[in-house]
Amino acid sequence: MTTDGSKLRIDVITLFPPMILEACSYGVIGRAMRSGLLTIAAHQLRDYTGGSHHPIDDHPYGGGPGMVMRPEPIHDAVEEVSTRYRPARKILLTPQGRPFSQAVARALARSGSFLLFCGRYEGVDERVRPLFDEELSIGDFVLSGGESAAVVLIDAVGRLVPGVLGCSQSCESESFADGQLEYPQFTRPESFRGQRVPAVLLSGNHAEIARWRKEQARERTRTRRPDLLRPETTDPDGDGG
Ligand code: SAM
Repeated sequence: MTTDGSKLRIDVITLFPPMILEACSYGVIGRAMRSGLLTIAAHQLRDYTGGSHHPIDDHPYGGGPGMVMRPEPIHDAVEEVSTRYRPARKILLTPQGRPFSQAVARALARSGSFLLFCGRYEGVDERVRPLFDEELSIGDFVLSGGESAAVVLIDAVGRLVPGVLGCSQSCESESFADGQLEYPQFTRPESFRGQRVPAVLLSGNHAEIARWRKEQARERTRTRRPDLLRPETTDPDGDGG
């Protein structure tokens, strides 16, 4: 439980707070915010520039394309938000970070609180890196800003907080929960364009259904993501160890 009574508090430092707050206002995450299970606060980085004449970015030393985010506002914003809300982890979002995964999401859901910093332009001045406990990437591609990465991360983490999803079991059998992809799912009608629901799912035999699903999950993982079945590629605790 955090100081404001929620189960997880996430502070986001960004040049575009509405991108975070608007995207997080829908579906299960929006409902969890309104019910007080999750607190998501977005802090405007421009409030830490020390006056309108101080730009947020500047040209890179040594030349080259684009602009780099200056270190002072980032330092001041991270320090102030950290002093006020005491996040358990301070995270820089960057394509150069450790890959975000379900295991990392699980660890963050248990952390109680964390801070996310969203970069823009060509990224941040190298000297702010020590301010953060870790750096996370949501994939091997480059986004124009960290806000969409933050929203992805918040969604994946927030839904793992107990009480956020209606049925707590739904995230236990999902893809990546036990290092595999989820089994195939079917709903009505029983026959769709000539494709019938597998008979076992209509049998009412729960032991048989559980066995079928386990086999399907294994086979699906083997054919689509064999890398998940190799223990050395997984990080069960999400701690990078
Ligand atoms: N010049 C940087 C590089 O090559 O590593 C990329 C900067 S990117 C255009 C601007 C910002 O978007 C980054 O500072 C980061 O916050 C965010 N970002 C871009 N791709 C990301 C990813 N895959 N995961 C997390 N954040 C990302």
